[in-house]
Amino acid sequence: MRTAPAGTVSSSLSSDEIARVDREHLWHPYARIGGDPAPLVVAQAHGTRLVLADGRELVDAMSSWWAAIHGYRHPALDAAAAEQLRSMSHVMFGGLTHEPAARLGALLVELTGMDTVFFCDSGSVSVEVAVKTVLQYQRAVGRPERRKLLTPRGGYYGDTFTPMSLCDPVGGMHSEWTGVLAEQVFAPRPPAAFDPAWDREVREIAAKHAHELAGIIAEPVVQGAGGMRMYDPRCLTTLREVADEHGLLLVFDEIATGFGRTGELFAHQHSAHQHSAAGHSAGVRPDVMCVGKALTGGYMTLAAVLSRREIAEAIDASGAGALLHGPTFMANPLACRVAVAAVELLLASDWRGEVARIEAALERGLAPAGELAGVREVRVLGAIGVVELERPADLARATATAVEHGVWLRPFGKLVYTMPPYISSQADLDQICAAIRAVATEECRSVG
Ligand SMILES: *Cc1c(COP(=O)(O)O)cnc(C)c1O
Repeated sequence: MRTAPAGTVSSSLSSDEIARVDREHLWHPYARIGGDPAPLVVAQAHGTRLVLADGRELVDAMSSWWAAIHGYRHPALDAAAAEQLRSMSHVMFGGLTHEPAARLGALLVELTGMDTVFFCDSGSVSVEVAVKTVLQYQRAVGRPERRKLLTPRGGYYGDTFTPMSLCDPVGGMHSEWTGVLAEQVFAPRPPAAFDPAWDREVREIAAKHAHELAGIIAEPVVQGAGGMRMYDPRCLTTLREVADEHGLLLVFDEIATGFGRTGELFAHQHSAHQHSAAGHSAGVRPDVMCVGKALTGGYMTLAAVLSRREIAEAIDASGAGALLHGPTFMANPLACRVAVAAVELLLASDWRGEVARIEAALERGLAPAGELAGVREVRVLGAIGVVELERPADLARATATAVEHGVWLRPFGKLVYTMPPYISSQADLDQICAAIRAVATEECRSVG
């Protein structure tokens, strides 16, 4: 029994008390205070399981939004965090440096072939920093009037204002903000199978706006929260060529797709396999790249912006003299140390085999949903499985159906989807697919 001094918040709360405080005071993502249905109270998580306060165990189909690729409470990640706590959990990064940042920086440089690393707090902030990098570069090379980015429709880059301006303005998560956001230049959504008409249109738009364009930003191969759509890696070649033709920097947002999720370590590497007839290709290389989400194995928030050395050199030699950004918790040692462990764990595993195994299980398990009247499409790539309905799912009903099947799912809009941890067993995947089929069946029936 723990006791707390009178007058302070007790050090432990019953699940009823948690639910009450939550209902009265806590915002949740894109939800109202005290919204319905009430969030489930999680007491702990281990492996692929979320354990609720009432004792129920759910199989995790979400990896806590693409992040917990190794599952929860992984011994290697727990040990890394505990070990780091013994030296320091945080020191400022202004004027100081440390081993966790150096180890993680060296790892990321080696894995991506990029040269410089800017650590920041979250994916959205990394997109802010990436855009700032692009704009500062254009100023440095004497083109300050180039302030916009070209981006395909259907993207999602985060919830702060610059990322919001890059998300699809029509039907995206940020349509509320039209008129407030910076204006960007939009290209059509990249097609699932390469289409010369798309290529032509992107080149025309870029040529028309070249005088005001500083860069191009895209999520390579999979557009995540903007609609969970996969597209032909050859589209990345178009973006690279357009960037080169007009002096634009090419930014790849690999926050969702990085660290193996799509079947390649980074999704833009799919483009390396497109030119097999013409011999070996290194694929399309970005100038700037954002990573986050799975970087720490989902333990804590951390993101990074990687760039090529010429870009850093141009910025450093400019009037500004430096990249003008510096968050309080930049390169937090605890987060960096856990990220080192998470990346090393990934590299030591047969992640390619595991993701291929999950891909096969999702293809097999979700295919029957494609037969339902009311399902528009079933798509699978790597450890991502999507059932797109004709109409938006009822979130409360869909979640309840999944929970009845012992699975934690969080559909959005018309999309019932999973991106399970890479450690998911065949039984976990069977259960996830059964739950998704049940949700799709129920939602299609209820449309009626
Ligand atoms: C989640 C996500 C972001 C934003 O990351 P946060 O950590 O939520 O700020 C940006 N880009 C992509 C592609 C994402 O999936």
